[in-house]
Amino acid sequence: MRETDWTRVLGWPGYRVYQHEINEAAKTLKLWVRRKRGNRKLVCSGCGRKFAEAYDSYEREVRDLPCFEFRTTVVVELYRVRCPDCGVKSEQVPQLPSKAPFSKRFEEAVGMACESASVRRVAGQFGLAASTVRAMDLRYLKRWAQVRRRPGLRQMGVDEIYLGKKQKFLTVVTNLETGEPLWFGQERKKETLDEFFEQHLSAFQRSAIRAACVDMWEPFRQSLEQWVPQCRIVYDKFHILQHAGQAVDEVRRAEFFRKGGAARDLVRGKRWLLLTSWLNLDRGKRRQLNALFALNRRILKAYLLKESLSQLWNYIYEGAMLRYLQSWIDQLRWQRLKPLEKLAHMLLDHLEGILNYCRTKVPMGVIEAVNGNIKALLRRGRGYRNMNYLLLKAQRLAATKTQFIALQKAA
Ligand SMILES: [Zn+2]
Repeated sequence: MRETDWTRVLGWPGYRVYQHEINEAAKTLKLWVRRKRGNRKLVCSGCGRKFAEAYDSYEREVRDLPCFEFRTTVVVELYRVRCPDCGVKSEQVPQLPSKAPFSKRFEEAVGMACESASVRRVAGQFGLAASTVRAMDLRYLKRWAQVRRRPGLRQMGVDEIYLGKKQKFLTVVTNLETGEPLWFGQERKKETLDEFFEQHLSAFQRSAIRAACVDMWEPFRQSLEQWVPQCRIVYDKFHILQHAGQAVDEVRRAEFFRKGGAARDLVRGKRWLLLTSWLNLDRGKRRQLNALFALNRRILKAYLLKESLSQLWNYIYEGAMLRYLQSWIDQLRWQRLKPLEKLAHMLLDHLEGILNYCRTKVPMGVIEAVNGNIKALLRRGRGYRNMNYLLLKAQRLAATKTQFIALQKAA
């Protein structure tokens, strides 16, 4: 094969191969490239200024995509320019986006592989260290984030994710219309959300926000009232049912301690069953729950109340919704279910925000889905120390999913 053929196979725009080396035993291919005649415009990597003259030249070796079974490296002849602003600086080359010894398309292949497999597996596949793959994936995501368009924020979701004993809570701001997480903040204080409004949105962007879906968490409400007073706060189904689930669990635990002996075994470990909706349980699981209910009417009552509360969001008119909530609270009388009484007080304290569901249409289930995606990423990645990496990963996941749905609709 002649060097001109290697130039065509390599396909680096503006560059030609002038030497090659094949090692059959090691299965490696090495190509030496330099600029084609006529490709003489040099760009300063510091500021983007154009130069006709080079200061000096040097060589850099990067790994590129493999050629059949041969691991391929490219040795590039590069120039430095003498820039009045940056001093002596290396030129900017589109195929070499970072200082790391990899070509852009190689990094893209690795980043794409990381979208559907764990870092460890990708590292094994490409014969790289896991830390190298992680760094490459992060650069790939950053480049993607730089060029994509960002839709405006009109409906936002604010949620918190529990990360564990050490890192505690992560506040997640979501664009409800695109289903994309926008920002992560440490902890879940008023100051946390303040930081998002203050540093990441302009006054104009804040004024465009119409609705916010949040948990009944006072610090978030205060922050919303301060920064986006025109925005309607909607307490959504997902969060309220989370509280209802916790109330049922409190009843279960109280009964666990109240009853002794055999009854304890029935109550023990039923937390998950009680949190799951009846419709999502198979026959075996329903039988287990029924055995528990036969023994303890209080747990049965609490479970039924949780189930019936979810019907609150079937109502479109606020009058009907309010009547349903009132009758739900009436059922609590004489039941001696303290945790659910506490929940009822909480609902009455946040009544406006609950009824706002009828006044402002916000997509339900988005917060839940984003929440689930982030948790899945955390499980797969085993601890993201870099929160920006986790955010970019979740954004990319949301974007590719939307693309997938759009493709399905077109088909
Ligand atoms: Zn410069």
